[in-house]
Amino acid sequence: MTDPLPEPFFSGPGLDRADALRADEAALHRLAEGSSARQLKWSDGLPLLSVDGELQWEPTSRPELFLGFDGEVARFSAIEDVRADARAAFPLMALLHSGDAPLFAAALSLARWHSRHRFCANCGHLTKIVRGGWSRSCPACGAEHYPRVDPVVIMLVEFDGRLLLGRQSQYPPGRYSALAGFVEVGENLEAAVAREIYEEAGINVRNIRYVASQPWPFPSSLMIGCQAEAESDGLRIDRAELEDARWFGREEVDEALAGAAGASFLPPPKTAIARTLLECWLAA
Ligand SMILES: [Zn+2]
Repeated sequence: MTDPLPEPFFSGPGLDRADALRADEAALHRLAEGSSARQLKWSDGLPLLSVDGELQWEPTSRPELFLGFDGEVARFSAIEDVRADARAAFPLMALLHSGDAPLFAAALSLARWHSRHRFCANCGHLTKIVRGGWSRSCPACGAEHYPRVDPVVIMLVEFDGRLLLGRQSQYPPGRYSALAGFVEVGENLEAAVAREIYEEAGINVRNIRYVASQPWPFPSSLMIGCQAEAESDGLRIDRAELEDARWFGREEVDEALAGAAGASFLPPPKTAIARTLLECWLAA
């Protein structure tokens, strides 16, 4: 029997979001006032963790956002002045318990969206929170606004048993990871994958397929992991986007993920879907 493929960090159901309750303001009110209701604690613009990496909760005082049910417990959060910078959150992510990661991602993205989207994008009027925090409604023009999700394609490119990985100048020394880029309007995922690889590395790809996805709450990306086959291995690297890009053999990837001394590159961290894509590729 083979092990199941690894699931990306931040992925999973997290908790029951109870969408049907969101429209019932009176019911949400009663839930928030219940003795078992809990509100997420924040510290310095990020959800607060225990030393064991678990989210910290307290009795509800400002239940602005209904996150959902964790068993019988109704979980809430408040709108915070969020510091949703991945680099500031890296030490916290290393500590964060994987079972709490989906809820961490949802609470962080949601709070960040509210703190940055108080006014109607259509008419400029102050909007109000509705649906337990999963929407904002404009009393002046009637427009409804929803928390945004920004799709990003991130992909492994294979040619003759080797993988193309690149590095950006802000990466730690030696790190190589999967190429990635935002999906543009009017583009499907396959077109975005092909365009990004051509722009960054100058190669054409075929047989693009989806592998796995991951919410990335800095501030609201959805990372869509794919794999593609290159038609050739001659690179033309866009140095404005990438400091370097190279082909790596299976053995090099295996050694890097195992953290072997003398490995030819430093792999992406365990919280990154790029790491999961590499693990899936090795397991295939
Ligand atoms: Zn409006």
